[in-house]
Amino acid sequence: MAFDIDMIKKVYQQMDERVKKAREAVGTPLTLSEKILYSHLWDGDPSKKLERGKDYVNFAPDRIACQDATAQMALLQFMQAGKEQVAVPTTVHCDHLIQAKQGAKKDLERANETSNEVFDFLESVSNKYGIGFWRPGAGIIHQVVLENYAFPGGMMIGTDSHTVNAGGLGMVAVGVGGADAVDVMAGMPWELKFPKLIGVKLTGNPQGWTAAKDVILKVAQILTVKGGTGCIVEYFGEGAKNLSCTGKGTICNMGAEIGATTSTFGYDDSMERFLRATDRNDIADEANKIREHLTGDQEVYDNPEKYFDQVIEIDLSTLRPHLNGPFTPDLATPVGELGEKAKKNDWPIKVDWGLIGSCTNSSYEDLTRAASIAQQAVDKKLKPKSDFGINPGSEQIRFTAERDGLLKVFEDLGATIFTNACGPCIGQWDRSDRKGDEKNTIVHSFNRNFSKRADGNPNTHAFVGSPEMVAAIAISGRLDFDPMNDTLINEDGEEVKLEAPKGIELPPLGFDVEENGYVKPEEDGSHVQVKVAEDSNRLQLLEPFDPWDGENLIGAKLLIKAHGKCTTDHISMAGPWLKYRGHLDNISDNCLIGAVNAFNKQTNFVKSQITGEYDAVPKTQRQYKAEGIPTVVVGDHNYGEGSSREHAAMEPRHLGVRVVLVKSFARIHETNLKKQGMLGITFQNEDDYDLIQEDDTFNFIDLKDFAEDKPLTIEVVHADGTKDTIKANHTYNETQIGWYKEGSALNMIKKMNK
Ligand code: SF4
Repeated sequence: MAFDIDMIKKVYQQMDERVKKAREAVGTPLTLSEKILYSHLWDGDPSKKLERGKDYVNFAPDRIACQDATAQMALLQFMQAGKEQVAVPTTVHCDHLIQAKQGAKKDLERANETSNEVFDFLESVSNKYGIGFWRPGAGIIHQVVLENYAFPGGMMIGTDSHTVNAGGLGMVAVGVGGADAVDVMAGMPWELKFPKLIGVKLTGNPQGWTAAKDVILKVAQILTVKGGTGCIVEYFGEGAKNLSCTGKGTICNMGAEIGATTSTFGYDDSMERFLRATDRNDIADEANKIREHLTGDQEVYDNPEKYFDQVIEIDLSTLRPHLNGPFTPDLATPVGELGEKAKKNDWPIKVDWGLIGSCTNSSYEDLTRAASIAQQAVDKKLKPKSDFGINPGSEQIRFTAERDGLLKVFEDLGATIFTNACGPCIGQWDRSDRKGDEKNTIVHSFNRNFSKRADGNPNTHAFVGSPEMVAAIAISGRLDFDPMNDTLINEDGEEVKLEAPKGIELPPLGFDVEENGYVKPEEDGSHVQVKVAEDSNRLQLLEPFDPWDGENLIGAKLLIKAHGKCTTDHISMAGPWLKYRGHLDNISDNCLIGAVNAFNKQTNFVKSQITGEYDAVPKTQRQYKAEGIPTVVVGDHNYGEGSSREHAAMEPRHLGVRVVLVKSFARIHETNLKKQGMLGITFQNEDDYDLIQEDDTFNFIDLKDFAEDKPLTIEVVHADGTKDTIKANHTYNETQIGWYKEGSALNMIKKMNK
């Protein structure tokens, strides 16, 4: 299972030389983020200064991590790449497809029945291609990565937005789409716009009820959900050293909620302690040898305004505990002020559930801090007024917490211990107490609290806090409870007060586990058969997309002209469709069903130019495909914003859409379209969007000459026979035109491997 110490030694050797070279190239002292980025350039040569927020750069990540929902399509694509093994150490973690309902044992049994074929598929592909596989119940991807694979100064990508959690151990770790991960698995570079840098200076020491979580809840308030876009957030200062490694992980984890590319902390004693406690003395020894490269230069931290694009300062000694929500993680309120705010906004004061867990807050330390509150409730005869649910972060944490009596404390309080998995954090929660859309309040230690996120109910008001604050609020059963000032009445009618939590950073007896759930792949997996049943409705082997015939595209019909916002959720909805993430044909039945038709302002209701009738988008498009008629999707600004899921590009491609013509693209989606062999182009004159009519036919009359920096010419033929000739821009470079010619980036990789 273990990390590859030789690989890490190599990274550190290169770092020594590359950091010095990068410092010369940039001409200033370096932040930690820059040191890691410049040390991981694909060409290994940091002798050119890269412009933040401008230059697109090829990187060579050290690791890849995938979770079960996203790994399906990523691995189905990788299987087409014609490689025998993954080029970069990779792991797959089964954590999303396990529903929380009756408790760990029964829930896991049920998941193993309902998603058996998906787990079997992921295990067999992993075995075949040299990928480490973590079984269902082994833990949540980001906790398992932190405990086993993250290392200071490393670079990782993962097919999950909270991959950023590994910044707690000094990595630059970034969430990406499956197609990006496939490139790196296949030995190709990973492209990223060189990020801008936000510095967060932490001073002081958190007191009493204030936790690491409160740092990011405060940062979210300052930066809002968009404030970190295109940036790495780097934390530094004396206060940072006063936080545990897993606490740092919590802060980095929720960097995803402010849109940051990632977040990171410099290597310090807390990271060394964590590495040694998780049986990685050799990494700690190696890291100690190059300590100065694993943190930013002192001059940078002494004068942060000179070196960061933005600087925030937070004094941990005066930081108050917060609860953020409802419905957005940046709506921060100090505990104690929430009652009044709730009354004003008509948020239910009664709290139904307190949930502790998720990749954000399920470490050993988190459980001890929450358990110290739970123990007080038991000792002081307080019966919790809310239901309690706990998801430990990994089997190693669960086993150790059980051994150390922590789980018993929660059980004594009536808590349900769910599987070591995502559970309610991703809506995998069969909530027994409320059905339908009743208005109610829950508190949790997770990261996201969007409408419907936990239980599918748009009227569940979810508030995010630290595990210990969640425990206290759940015991009181009230959103307006302030454990620092308020008292509670116990079963004997006495007034009692909860003391501030006490945490244990790392288990005094060490971590322990009997069966951690890891499956090591075979050295030579060439004989391994990948398991996909032909009649499966969850999984489908991919067929390569057809290459371009080299001809102009003539007679393409308009499928839909999307009006306004068209995110990846509008193009490929999540929720109930999550289960089809491994079956391209089945999931294609959600293709563009959320996009608003510009001609009737309805969703999933477009005119077929074959029948003249209005019908669902996927059904209409399947008719075009059956008749061999190519189609075009037209869109507005920032088309494809949101998640990096490649399904939003693969589905239209699979159904026969040939071109996506928009005012502007979200960058990742534009790349995804290119990778899947689609023509993703933009109106040269934005107003031409208004020329497009419902019965239009498109002729791409100079596609034959498709070349870098050369706009394309399109004849738009209207139903009355009139014609407009418009120009479209594109950003395809030579390689990407190669992908288009071959039918997809994967086809190209496959060809190169022959
Ligand atoms: Fe994503 Fe929640 Fe699972 Fe973390 S615990 S990986 S946020 S679903």
